[in-house]
Amino acid sequence: MPDCTKARLAAVLLFTNSIGPVALGQIDYDGVRDEVGTVRIAARVQRFEPIQSVVAGAFPIHTSNYDVAAVWDPAGSRAHEAWDMSLIYPLPGEMQISFTNNETVGIRSQSGGLAGQSEGPMESSRIGANFKDLWLSNPVVLLAHAEQLEVSRSSIGEQPVNLHNLVLEDTEWLVAIDERNGVPLSASTTENDPHRGRIENRIEFSDWRDVDGIPFPFRLEQFTGDALVRRELRTAVEVNPGNAESLLAFDASELPPGDLAMRRWGWEMSHIILKRGGGGNIGNYPQIDNVTIEEVAPGIFLVPGTHNNLIIEGPEALALVDASWYPERSQTLLARVAERWPEKTIRYLILTHHHIDHTGGMRPVIEAGASVVTSEKNADYFREVFDSTMTQSVNLIEVGQFLSLDGIGREIHAYDVYTEHAEGMIAAYVPDEKLLFNADLFSPNRSLQFSLWFDDLMHAIEWHGIDVEKHVGGHGSGIAAHPVDVSGHTMPVIRRMEMGAN
Ligand SMILES: [Zn+2]
Repeated sequence: MPDCTKARLAAVLLFTNSIGPVALGQIDYDGVRDEVGTVRIAARVQRFEPIQSVVAGAFPIHTSNYDVAAVWDPAGSRAHEAWDMSLIYPLPGEMQISFTNNETVGIRSQSGGLAGQSEGPMESSRIGANFKDLWLSNPVVLLAHAEQLEVSRSSIGEQPVNLHNLVLEDTEWLVAIDERNGVPLSASTTENDPHRGRIENRIEFSDWRDVDGIPFPFRLEQFTGDALVRRELRTAVEVNPGNAESLLAFDASELPPGDLAMRRWGWEMSHIILKRGGGGNIGNYPQIDNVTIEEVAPGIFLVPGTHNNLIIEGPEALALVDASWYPERSQTLLARVAERWPEKTIRYLILTHHHIDHTGGMRPVIEAGASVVTSEKNADYFREVFDSTMTQSVNLIEVGQFLSLDGIGREIHAYDVYTEHAEGMIAAYVPDEKLLFNADLFSPNRSLQFSLWFDDLMHAIEWHGIDVEKHVGGHGSGIAAHPVDVSGHTMPVIRRMEMGAN
């Protein structure tokens, strides 16, 4: 176990003594199941996103702080959550969002943020993610409702624990309980992860307090793998609060039926859905029904979406730039590519930077045989991900300042771009069309631009002397002619150089 994990667990143990050990050891879980109809939780939360860091594999980016007020009916599968958010990344701002839902449908209403005021059906993926997180965050309630498969003895560092292996909603959970006093130290489950395939989603608990005879943790720290994603300090927990029914009530009669497959998709990837939620993003879906291939220049094709990809066709093979969000979308794209170019395979997957919204779909493309082209600054991160989670060996091509690729029978250049958005950033260039693809720095034909990142791209074009006529981007639409004028459309971004230091 790494030293940092040991230190973290030692800190957890220090905090577990605020409630009498006997009280916890004697938890009557049947009683908890019968007596806890609803729970109200108020908390202050910090959110972090490891795969939006400046430096690949370094300290997670801090995306928001928020106050959350939640009411949950675990047996009845109903919940209400209100998040009052201070967004930090990518855009600073205030946003309020609330969800009221039953097992399959719900209502979302929001104000502030980029989307402004709106109300509508709650995304099924968010319903799954919210429920998953409520179970994982409240281990005594989880233990009371789940079926127990087995208990085994183990240890966390020096600390002997009983590992309770549970099943609930066709999902396996592990709760580690301090053998000395019955305190749940952590709860974990395994979830889907775009980069790693599967990953541990774990919450560590401390500051246990008695709420009407039932212990609840007031201090939670959440990790996916070893990366910090959330710190939560609870300010109040109430069992069977008087106003629960009014907060849980909503009119479901006008709502379309819930999408159970999407609910499960969100449940299986709650850490991703909620990390995105922590950045103010609400609509998560795998985007498999809108995969189109649109030619924007001879032999150059944009695959538009919330995150665009580019296909470059050469006489011998293809190159794909970026792999948007989810593996499911890439699988669909691979099928479309196979229909359109049955004779050609994707030789290169060029990743502009490591951020998961531009790389989350990389695995199927790599498994189909593509070599990965990325900045040398991302190489350690990706090599670790590939070595630890993929059985095949992956050919990783590192870009320093400049690299020319000729493996598809058509020249492609990759240039480094110095930007605070990501340390290992490259832009892809097709010389015969004088076309440059970037992600996140300049978004063609979009009203919103980020001034600092835009300047970084323009500086790189001058620095390298790239003869650009056409821009395409990971965001935005179509082609923009160079030079571009973005005056009147730019937003400043928070400088975050320090956050990338490790
Ligand atoms: Zn990015």
